[in-house]
Amino acid sequence: MDKTFDPRHLDIKAFAQAGAGLQGETPLADWPRLLQEQFAESAGAAVRWRLDGRMVPVTGGAAQVAMGLQAEVDLVQQCQRCLSAVVQKVEAERDFLFVADEATAEALDEDSEADVLVLSRDFDALSLVEDELILALPLVPRHDTCPQSLPEVAEDESFARASERPHPFAALAALKNGR
Ligand SMILES: [Zn+2]
Repeated sequence: MDKTFDPRHLDIKAFAQAGAGLQGETPLADWPRLLQEQFAESAGAAVRWRLDGRMVPVTGGAAQVAMGLQAEVDLVQQCQRCLSAVVQKVEAERDFLFVADEATAEALDEDSEADVLVLSRDFDALSLVEDELILALPLVPRHDTCPQSLPEVAEDESFARASERPHPFAALAALKNGR
């Protein structure tokens, strides 16, 4: 059944009505925008993704067209602390509702937990996967622990000392209690 649906040209409503699923592991080379975020080549890097179509029953109304999206990739980025390569696991998981037109989408988007998009018979779901992974990229890619010691450590230490200083209100409270 899955073979009848092409994730690059998806008939969303038919996909949801069939309760169909699609999944794959697509080489990073096929995702131009993600590729731009890559700091260094990594052999065999691929995006693992999954799409699930379903109809969501609505009390007193027509069922809504919905799709769940999950994706993950191990992306080599540049650590913003030591400037060497760091492998970041980027994961995305989101639910979408599809409606007839832009006006309905805007109205629904405000009070819906899912993201609302306009229905299409020729929907590029892999481009949506790419959007979601880009949104999920770390703002500041970095190692949990950088591989070598760094000049920035001095700065980190002074920051740590500053944050150890008692909060002014805490000091005030201690003063009052001491009375
Ligand atoms: Zn680092």
